[in-house]
Amino acid sequence: MDILVINCGSSSLKYQLIDMNGENVLAKGIVERIGIDGSRIKHEPHNSEKIVIEEPIKNHKEALKMVVDAITNSEYGVIESMDQISAVGHRVVHGGEDFSKSVIIDDKVMDALNRNIELAPLHNPPNIIGIEACKEIMPNVPMVAVFDTAFHQTLPEENYIYAIPYEYYEKYKIRRYGFHGTSHKYVAIRTAEILNKQLSDLNAITCHLGNGASITAIKSGISIDTSMGFTPLEGLAMGTRSGNIDPAIIPFLMKKENMSFDDVNDVLNKKSGVLGVSGISSDFRDLEDEAEKGNKRAKLALNLFANRVVKYISAYASELGRVDAIVFTAGVGENSPLIREMVCENLGILGVKIDKNVNDFKGKERMISTDDSKVKVLVVPTNEELMIARETVELVK
Ligand code: ADP
Repeated sequence: MDILVINCGSSSLKYQLIDMNGENVLAKGIVERIGIDGSRIKHEPHNSEKIVIEEPIKNHKEALKMVVDAITNSEYGVIESMDQISAVGHRVVHGGEDFSKSVIIDDKVMDALNRNIELAPLHNPPNIIGIEACKEIMPNVPMVAVFDTAFHQTLPEENYIYAIPYEYYEKYKIRRYGFHGTSHKYVAIRTAEILNKQLSDLNAITCHLGNGASITAIKSGISIDTSMGFTPLEGLAMGTRSGNIDPAIIPFLMKKENMSFDDVNDVLNKKSGVLGVSGISSDFRDLEDEAEKGNKRAKLALNLFANRVVKYISAYASELGRVDAIVFTAGVGENSPLIREMVCENLGILGVKIDKNVNDFKGKERMISTDDSKVKVLVVPTNEELMIARETVELVK
């Protein structure tokens, strides 16, 4: 069964075609700069060289046509015809309170997605456009929506209600939703497998540390707390996002700097985080290089980042009562021994001990805790596309 996984952004469309019989990626790629000068598709078949085709791509429908052409092309394609695609799995950022699981897309689901635009004005519209484009191009292929928020719909009320007047929850659904759910769920499932446990017996703290970063407390296999909230701005300091700040800073800045709300929003989302603190880069590789050379603000940004991770892990350990594993994933979590070490060396109170030599690697699945560590510490590379494909198969089979 071949499943096409689609992740549509405002000007990009990422895809993977996965043969679910052996969970093998047949091809993956990205269409970039949709509707902008310089649009192109980068297509990586599993059995031949990566190709790049540059040509004007006006909209997502054209982008999707190029994807279908690429995967069925006689030279660099991987399947003979579109009919071989059994189903399409779409990543959707915000499911609001409507979706606690993945669903087969029908008209009712489309209505709910449209209702939730208000909650994710930047992310949901391109997701919806991607679904519409697919419907036009492959009208008879079943489609599934997999939500970033769904895994966190199990949060208890006290963890999702903000301490603001309750009427705003009732009127506008202002509450904590959490994101990266597909990734947290994937690494939790994988961690249970590695530890030879049932998922329903697993208590873990999963740390998705990428450009965007979030931490989740998983109790008996379900999410009970997570660091992102109403939007993906809450929680940890990130590449360019501030994470938690005193909300009073917002009106203060608006006054002092004569900024509009949009200006401040832009600062908090795009110019803050480790980029804002260091003044150098949002990329941890650059920060690690500069810190090594003695740059104080690069070092400060790394310390601040790691410290927030430590605080969340410690708080979540208390919420969980028992922690079987702390798991690192995503760009930084998988690839930065330094950040993992900076975090773990401050978790002594939980009895966490890692082996520095074993920790000195990137991008693989590995246990980095010592035998006498009270909590297992693992690195598990995330695979959101595979998780989306699995959920799609589950629903359409
Ligand atoms: P996203 O999907 O949120 O864009 P990723 O999970 O791909 O982000 O993470 C990207 C980030 O991972 C980069 O910005 C970079 O900071 C970090 N990263 C990648 N490789 C390394 C590395 N070798 N060392 C440190 N950080 C790394």
